[in-house]
Amino acid sequence: MIIADKIKDSIDRASWIRKMFEEGARLCKQYGAENIYDFTLGNPTVEPPARFYQELQNLANHPDPGMHRYMNNAGYAETRRAVAGKISRTAPTPLEEDHVIMTCGAGGALNVTLKTVLNPGDEVIILAPFFVEYCFYIENHGGTPVQVWTNRETFQLDIAAIEAAITPQTRAIIINSPNNPTGVIYPESSLQQLGELLTKTRDKSGQRILVISDEPYARISYDGVTVPNIFNSIDDAVIVTSHSKDLALPGERIGYLAANPVMADVDLFIDGATFANRTLGFVNAPALSQRLVANLQDESVDIDAYQLKRDLLYEELSGLGFKMVKPSGAFYLFPRSPLEDDVEFVKRAQHHHLLLVPGSGFGAPGFFRIAYCIDLSIIERSLPAWRNLARDLGM
Ligand code: PLP
Repeated sequence: MIIADKIKDSIDRASWIRKMFEEGARLCKQYGAENIYDFTLGNPTVEPPARFYQELQNLANHPDPGMHRYMNNAGYAETRRAVAGKISRTAPTPLEEDHVIMTCGAGGALNVTLKTVLNPGDEVIILAPFFVEYCFYIENHGGTPVQVWTNRETFQLDIAAIEAAITPQTRAIIINSPNNPTGVIYPESSLQQLGELLTKTRDKSGQRILVISDEPYARISYDGVTVPNIFNSIDDAVIVTSHSKDLALPGERIGYLAANPVMADVDLFIDGATFANRTLGFVNAPALSQRLVANLQDESVDIDAYQLKRDLLYEELSGLGFKMVKPSGAFYLFPRSPLEDDVEFVKRAQHHHLLLVPGSGFGAPGFFRIAYCIDLSIIERSLPAWRNLARDLGM
């Protein structure tokens, strides 16, 4: 076999997801894409903000000599300064540019961070429901994912469950707020409790556990709820994030990691992560993208438009009897599956031309995910299909 057993095993395990997408593609071909309501992808259909195009124009009209060359593997100082300044506004200790590394998206930042901290056999706690790529990213670097459920009613942190999962091998914990797939935001009080748990662990055995806070949806929050700065609650913490969602630039692969300046061995961590950014073959984040986002740290896509979509779907589906937590952020809903078997439910939804992702794809069987980062008109047109689905299931 030409490919490694590990990769073969991973693609086999994910084959049911591929089959589901293939079925979606088949339905689009048979009935026309306009008659299929695709809620499967977290790939925003909104365009980037107007300021993004101004920056693009400006760069094209005033190119700097050397702007396409290699650079410091951590990225342009100017961009890192802009990011450090933005985070410092809500951080207890200001960040300098040296605490920031520009990366190829949040996915790049996660891989760089994990490569930097994991020894073979180290465990990384992930919280179900979770972004499934975490498992692959952890395994990329010789680590073992350890799944711990959040509270099944609220999807908030279950500190006792996290404590029970900590072993001498635990190296890191990944948290994601606002969350994909639940849309939940962890309040400052929960993060404080997590911080206290990690301090207790450190004081007892000397074991330091790094919190990797994955925050690509941090600017997408509703009802005046804001995402607390993790550095207020936890010293040994790294923010990993991107502009894939807040500026709708997922194809441009631009993100960063930022380390808490008070973290133990922070300079060593940054040196290691800069090395990992280079040797994973990223070398540096795309030069053009770095220049573009430097001046867009306070910009985002239209959040009110997302809130409108959340409200519409939440009200309509709750009215039909679907049970779900009302999300405070991101652009997903994660209702309970009306059928015990969530994969079976998603197949039933396909009969009504609704494409959804089963909770099993997020380590959470018994639920399903709706990604509402699609045009409002598609959501509106999908409502009769939701009603038919509910009727079909006797809801
Ligand atoms: N983390 C979460 C929770 C995500 O939902 C995603 C993308 O959907 C990523 C990370 C990866 O983002 P990026 O495109 O910036 O690599």
